[in-house]
Amino acid sequence: MRITEIREIAVPINSTIRNAVFDFSEMTTSVVAVVTDVIRNGRPVIGFAFNSTGRYACGAQMRDRLIPRIMKATPESLLNEAGNNLEPEKILACMMQREKPGGHTERSVAVGTIEVAIWDAVAKIQDRPLHAVLADKYNSAQVHHQIPCYVGGGWYAPGKGIPELQDEIRHRLQQGYTTMKIKVGGASVAEDLARVEASLKVVGTSDHLAVDANAGFSPERTREYAKALKPYQLRWFEEPTDPLDYELLAEVTSMYPSPIGTGENLFSTQDIKNLVHFGGMRPDRDILQIDVPQSYGIVQFGRTLKMLESRGWSRQSVFPHGGNLMTLAIVAGFGLGGCEAYPGTFGVFAGFADDSKVENGLLTLSDRPGIGFEGQNALYAVMRQIALD
Ligand code: MG
Repeated sequence: MRITEIREIAVPINSTIRNAVFDFSEMTTSVVAVVTDVIRNGRPVIGFAFNSTGRYACGAQMRDRLIPRIMKATPESLLNEAGNNLEPEKILACMMQREKPGGHTERSVAVGTIEVAIWDAVAKIQDRPLHAVLADKYNSAQVHHQIPCYVGGGWYAPGKGIPELQDEIRHRLQQGYTTMKIKVGGASVAEDLARVEASLKVVGTSDHLAVDANAGFSPERTREYAKALKPYQLRWFEEPTDPLDYELLAEVTSMYPSPIGTGENLFSTQDIKNLVHFGGMRPDRDILQIDVPQSYGIVQFGRTLKMLESRGWSRQSVFPHGGNLMTLAIVAGFGLGGCEAYPGTFGVFAGFADDSKVENGLLTLSDRPGIGFEGQNALYAVMRQIALD
């Protein structure tokens, strides 16, 4: 068996939302299709993925280096020992040939997106859901069918005030979610505190509300928000500092007793190791938010998790960034703390299978083979088009 073709295309996300730092008007994502010569139900098995949310499309790296390396390799060198399926670890190593250490983001998103599409194909070839395949390999075969899921929302938008923010949260609670994350830092401290208080009134308790500053603060504002938010004892305070400013983060963790969340803008095992070591991150409460398709993919995430576990971190502390089916399968497969959701926010790239249910903050996984994009009709239509063009 072999990979016959790998296709990629940049697709606009078409969103009008804004966080503390930037708006999403130009945001794109790369959609990847890995076509194999394995036939299931009369059609070739195709693995799909996209590069999650918030990093622009990265087709150049894929076209110029990564896809040609895979296509030049002898097909047998990319297979598992039995020779009956692709071996993601070997394909990752193949993509990383002649890549200089460091400078991760230049390629980690492109590598990770292709790698996750390979896993989709691997699971489809086994005719099993990806979360079950991952549970076998990475979580002693403990398959989770339901996982905690919170809403990443509360964005700033034109004409959106406090009543609209409360409506948004109410609507999410009605859909079955229990925990909400809202943006902070795109307004004054006073306005943001009013937004926090108004949101608390709707969600009920402080452990059901998190805030996200998107790494947009100056050091002075970081300190100001940490002081102002401290009394609320929120579920977590996300990205209070620049992703790489571990010194300032250590200052925040020493003065802010409630949980801190961060890590979605770090793209390597080494960066996460530095984060937990130098950032004063506390394994008993803080939250790590690695975005797996953006940081070299699933095999590398397994290595990151090993590193974290050897330093006293539990899987329950990992809430990967990215409210999408790829993250959902990874959370369930590895047995992580929970998943994010962006209902109705990023067009066809938002959300999960059309028939997925949320009850009491728990999302039930489908048993479709692979990542299960086939159950998310609008997105799957885009993916099929790329594969057939
Ligand atoms: Mg965030």
